[in-house]
Amino acid sequence: AGIGLASKKGIVIKGANYLDSLCKIGTVFLDKTGTLTYGNFDVGKVVPIGMSEDQFMKYLLAAESRSDHPIAKAICLHKNISSIALAQKHYEEIPGQGVKTEYMSHIILAGNALLLQSNKVKFDEINAAGTPIYLAVDGRYAGYVLLKDVVRDKAKLLIKKLDELGIKTVLLSGDKIETVSEVANEVGIKEFYAKLLPQDKTKFVEEAIAKRNDKNLIAFAGDGINDTPSIIRADVGFAMGGIGSDMAVENADVVIMQDHPLKIYDSIQIARKTRAVAIFNIVFSLFVKLTVITLILLGVLGQAGMLVAVLADTGLTVLLTLHSLSLIYRKIK
Ligand code: ADP
Ligand code: MG
Repeated sequence: AGIGLASKKGIVIKGANYLDSLCKIGTVFLDKTGTLTYGNFDVGKVVPIGMSEDQFMKYLLAAESRSDHPIAKAICLHKNISSIALAQKHYEEIPGQGVKTEYMSHIILAGNALLLQSNKVKFDEINAAGTPIYLAVDGRYAGYVLLKDVVRDKAKLLIKKLDELGIKTVLLSGDKIETVSEVANEVGIKEFYAKLLPQDKTKFVEEAIAKRNDKNLIAFAGDGINDTPSIIRADVGFAMGGIGSDMAVENADVVIMQDHPLKIYDSIQIARKTRAVAIFNIVFSLFVKLTVITLILLGVLGQAGMLVAVLADTGLTVLLTLHSLSLIYRKIK
């Protein structure tokens, strides 16, 4: 019934054991792009260096045309990319960094500062608000585009509500520190880490798991392919069902449909309600049975003993089953 209630609210919980774990979450690690933000980037400024804007966009589209990353989707939105996508060789996506590809005999890099640094391309880092995507062609810096993302509706409320439950929240992101701290401030997360590679995110989760106890489990909420290792490692892995990559959704324990961040809180509340009903049912049935046994042994019930015993057994089973089923009609606040 608890899982049924969750599905009605657009939350897919992949097993009753996760209902148990959900009740015991002590820390939630959250990804930024796509999880706390919409991941629908607006392409703002385009700054080509040493080439025309047309040329710049052609190279950038070539690199991004085959990627599923929200950034790539935003850059390619409404553009005709099918022929460009087909013309590529040695396409490679570097998680948490960007894309490397060969297009019309040019080696193209598109991604964050780390990508260019690790390929030894000289460039000037941009400190403006937003997420810059740098482009390099044949090892030479070719400019950048500045993308802007928006924090999801109710993301702030999620952090506040988790706070009220005594659950710690930590923001983990592959983005640059300025953007991450801006989002963290906006939603009210005190602890945040930037410029993380997928394996760094997993390390945070693993270190937390090594230190946690049974009553303070570790959860991770993410959306991208790059979040999948952390989603798998966490005690409870949440994935955004809408924007999330297939890998993330497939490996998550709890999938949030429509990507509403507040549903992370709802799923915890549903799990807690389900456990409360289960505990009530067990305590109540034991109490009634022990009372009836005592009354019968004392001879208080006399002739009615048999009737009361049947009611206390079968009657109670029906009643408590109905009580469990009533969970499906509960409201979540
Ligand atoms: P987050 O942890 O915030 O969800 P990701 O780990 O998905 O972010 O990506 C981290 C950074 O890597 C992005 O901010 C972006 O700069 C860069 N990046 C990743 N994939 C791509 C891509 N396909 N094209 C361009 N840049 C990318
Ligand atoms: Mg993400």
